[in-house]
Amino acid sequence: VSVKPISYQNDRFVQLSEMSISPFDRGYLFAHAAYEVTAVYHGELIDFSGHEQRLARTLDALAIPNPFQGDRLLQMHHTLIARNSLKEGLIYLQVTAGDYDLRDFAGPETIMPNVTAFAAEKKLIGDAARLGISTILSEDTRWQRRDLKTTQLLSQALAYRSARNADATTAIMCENGLITEAASANVWIVRKDGSLQTRERSSAILSGITRQRAIEEVFTTSAGLLVAPVIEIDGHQIGSGQPGPITRWIQALYYRTMGADLTKIGWL
Ligand code: PLP
Repeated sequence: VSVKPISYQNDRFVQLSEMSISPFDRGYLFAHAAYEVTAVYHGELIDFSGHEQRLARTLDALAIPNPFQGDRLLQMHHTLIARNSLKEGLIYLQVTAGDYDLRDFAGPETIMPNVTAFAAEKKLIGDAARLGISTILSEDTRWQRRDLKTTQLLSQALAYRSARNADATTAIMCENGLITEAASANVWIVRKDGSLQTRERSSAILSGITRQRAIEEVFTTSAGLLVAPVIEIDGHQIGSGQPGPITRWIQALYYRTMGADLTKIGWL
């Protein structure tokens, strides 16, 4: 991943080096901040409206007024893409609850958000997609509002450090013996009968599944790695140790919705 030079801070497009954040910013002090990460492919935003809607939902729950009305968020994304000539990568956006020269837990009645955004170049359909990723299992120690996309990411940051120590790409998190999701992606399981399960859709059905249980295929979904086959968990091979056919099929479907030319990818 390489960060591009033109970024955005509170209504202005600036050089990355010109951005500055107050030590009293509530994002920095309390993780009182929402974020979003949107993929860019062929210079086009992928699933933008979903990210826009999730941002609005998170901001609402965090009592942060939405700084983007109408199509302003979309325009800002388009400008970052254009000014950085970004073809493939990610747009990162952070909206914090502002800074008030005071370290006060509750903060002011009326919150004035601080916004930053930057563009990063990244090959989205690369080795992780082609070869699969190794993972570790880790305890999910996060707070209870995991439905909100906040910058409160310490559990995940520590899980990623443990993964790196084990030469793995990411961590799959467990709570009471059940998988919740990966450190920065959702986990999907393809069962032996070909059915597809993910936590939200089937928490009742997932009951009793542990890491010992036979799993034919596992993959993660995220803006950063799109659809990434999981080939290893805690040193144990998943399935054949190669990305499986159903994961390949889902990769193909998703890449097609992005406008990717599947014949150019070669390995699909
Ligand atoms: N789950 C967590 C904890 C994440 O951090 C992410 C992405 O960062 C996802 C799931 C995947 O979400 P999305 O597909 O919107 O990138």
